[in-house]
Amino acid sequence: MAETTINTLSGAIFAGLSCSCPRCGRGKLFQGFLTLRPRCEVCGLDYGFADAGDGPAVFVTFFAGFIVVGAALVTEILYRPPYWVHAALWLPLILIVTLGPLRPMKGLMIALQYYHKAGEGHLGGPGAP
Ligand SMILES: [Zn+2]
Repeated sequence: MAETTINTLSGAIFAGLSCSCPRCGRGKLFQGFLTLRPRCEVCGLDYGFADAGDGPAVFVTFFAGFIVVGAALVTEILYRPPYWVHAALWLPLILIVTLGPLRPMKGLMIALQYYHKAGEGHLGGPGAP
């Protein structure tokens, strides 16, 4: 099987943002909204190494907070709308800016984890007692 392997950082970033396999870039990474497949259906890469943890949620929360709070402050200062207008504007925006980038951000974190061969640290190495 002719298999291409991603070996550049930009390729890993693109594969991650497109929610594709971090090794071949063609297989799908997710089987649900955020549930990983057990392995790539194209190259067979086992996704057991992938553990994005809370990383994607943290970045998305910072990003969403910056946008929503900034927009709400600007709107309040400039227009002073009633509270129901704030609720009507910002609740949908919160859903969009949090749920929208969550999946690509998780794909990006996993692709970067694979590219940089990141894993859990452990004590003891070749020179350790
Ligand atoms: Zn693959």
